[in-house]
Amino acid sequence: MKKDNIFINIIKKKIKVDILYQDELVTAFYDLNPKAPVHVLIVPNILIPTVNHVTTNDEIILGRLFVVAAKIAKKKNIHSSGYRLIVNCNHHAGQEIYHLHMHLLGGKPLGPLL
Ligand code: AMP
Repeated sequence: MKKDNIFINIIKKKIKVDILYQDELVTAFYDLNPKAPVHVLIVPNILIPTVNHVTTNDEIILGRLFVVAAKIAKKKNIHSSGYRLIVNCNHHAGQEIYHLHMHLLGGKPLGPLL
């Protein structure tokens, strides 16, 4: 598994994007190809390639993804209308970037997922 990926470069600010939120555990920024009026990615600052690689050591980081998702949803004023959080794992789910990330999607009715 590659140690380098586009998200690591964003986290380390080697690639310039609008960072919506960053702390010692996670970073949030806009998705390059938004699928909804609000489409934000929230990613751990350390490389966890997929959900399959998650261990109990990651529980605080993974919890922080939800805390930050709720914070950004409120900031974007989509908390009452609602939103969807998605984490894709491996190719059947369409995971493109092998750095675990949470999609935060909202700002319009998203329709049923399945
Ligand atoms: P996934 O299919 O769950 O791996 O999602 C990867 C997401 O990363 C896609 O929605 C892409 O549009 C997004 N993406 C890829 N490159 C960048 C980038 N440089 N900045 C922001 N989002 C990106």
